[in-house]
Amino acid sequence: MVDSMPIPAGRKARRRAVANRRAGYTVPDQKNEGGGRTMRVQVAIVGAGPAGLLLGQLLAKAGIDAAILEQRTADYVLGRIRAGVLEQTTVELLEEAGVATRLHREGLVHDGIHLCFDGTRHRIDFRELVGKTVTVYGQTEITRDLMHARVAIGAPTVYEAEQVSLHDLDSASPRVRYASGGNVGQIECDFVAGCDGFHGVSRQSIPSSMLRVFERVYPFGWLGVLSDTPPVAPELVYANHPRGFALCSMRSTTRSRHYVQVPLSERVEDWPDDRFWDELRSRVDSDSASALVTGPSIEKSIAPLRSFVAEPMRYGRLFLAGDAAHIVPPTGAKGLNLAASDVHYLTRALVRHYRQNDDALLNGYSARCLRRIWRAERFSWWMTSLLHRFPDTDAFGARIQQADLDYLVGSRAAAASLAENYVGLPFED
Ligand SMILES: Cc1cc2nc3c(=O)[nH]c(=O)nc-3n(C[C@H](O)[C@H](O)[C@H](O)COP(=O)(O)OP(=O)(O)OC[C@H]3O[C@@H](n4cnc5c(N)ncnc54)[C@H](O)[C@@H]3O)c2cc1C
Repeated sequence: MVDSMPIPAGRKARRRAVANRRAGYTVPDQKNEGGGRTMRVQVAIVGAGPAGLLLGQLLAKAGIDAAILEQRTADYVLGRIRAGVLEQTTVELLEEAGVATRLHREGLVHDGIHLCFDGTRHRIDFRELVGKTVTVYGQTEITRDLMHARVAIGAPTVYEAEQVSLHDLDSASPRVRYASGGNVGQIECDFVAGCDGFHGVSRQSIPSSMLRVFERVYPFGWLGVLSDTPPVAPELVYANHPRGFALCSMRSTTRSRHYVQVPLSERVEDWPDDRFWDELRSRVDSDSASALVTGPSIEKSIAPLRSFVAEPMRYGRLFLAGDAAHIVPPTGAKGLNLAASDVHYLTRALVRHYRQNDDALLNGYSARCLRRIWRAERFSWWMTSLLHRFPDTDAFGARIQQADLDYLVGSRAAAASLAENYVGLPFED
């Protein structure tokens, strides 16, 4: 089912609609009694981030009909610079979804990472320690590949869907309503997948008495700079320094993504490129500092760090997946990977429901996801605690952090534990 595109009122909206149409993205037909359109699908997906798009693609492969509603434009979604490190299980899911050709051509396979403290760089060799690797391939590229695949199969995606609201979630016939181009649209479905991120409407549609929330907000953020400069090293460099954490990461062999820890009170405007490069150089070892190639930033932003889990991840016919249900600080590179693992479990559960009329996996979805999520939450919290300077760290705390780092680079067992978690724990059956 492919929806044709309405011509929304207003010149600005018309221009966006034309741009979307040229890009091949779909928005809904119009004209039902409310001036909008009613669609009937098996699964309504809210949010066209990586979770929603990957779910849509895997369901389509399984012959399950799904429509996606996204509040932003496709270009806006593609413009968000976020994750870049993929676990092997995420790569395998993208293969299963049929969108891994470019990933395998352009992605960088990394055998390990570097930890840098006391001015020295130490390598943690994943391949040698646990026989696995990670792949560096930007979230933007994954999103682009998934969008193209969705357009190719003609599956419906409504961009710029406003006022999205979920209804009758505790019945067998839930509905999702939205506004688009001045019209009101409705999707009737069997299930709703809430893939609309931390600020989305899905989690907020669950009565608060049914949800338990666990949260930790960190007293600092990451100032990130994207630049068309080569990375300082072939693998990521994580630095613990008295001035604060730093990370030298990359998206390709010619595009770098660097971060420095900053207080939450900092503003991007106060960080001209030169100041950023000087600060980064001061926090890394001398080899990394001398290899650092600077250049104009092509994106610069400050991201707050948060740990968050909402339990359970299901309410009636609504299933949450990805950032809609949980957030991790990016230190462990887990956010996107957790979104992918939720999608893996949800796809299997929906396939079992439709093919075998068996709801055991749907009923176990939340508990199964949460077991993996809490392990990733622990790892991400631990990496954050290990590598950042906290405002209230006293002399005792600083010595404990130092001892933890010494143990990590001096003990094969400790290094293997980091490696096992960083490359990603296996899915449960
Ligand atoms: C600044 C930043 C940096 C990050 N860096 C890393 C990193 O280095 N490594 C890592 O692993 N993870 C990182 N993450 C986390 C990672 O990007 C997320 O975990 C991942 O995007 C989760 O995907 P998602 O699809 O669940 O949610 P999202 O990517 O947030 O997608 C949700 C989508 O839903 C849409 N939406 C929201 N509300 C509505 C609504 N009411 N109706 C319709 N659509 C709606 C949004 O516009 C969005 O497109 C970072 C996150 C941020 C914010």
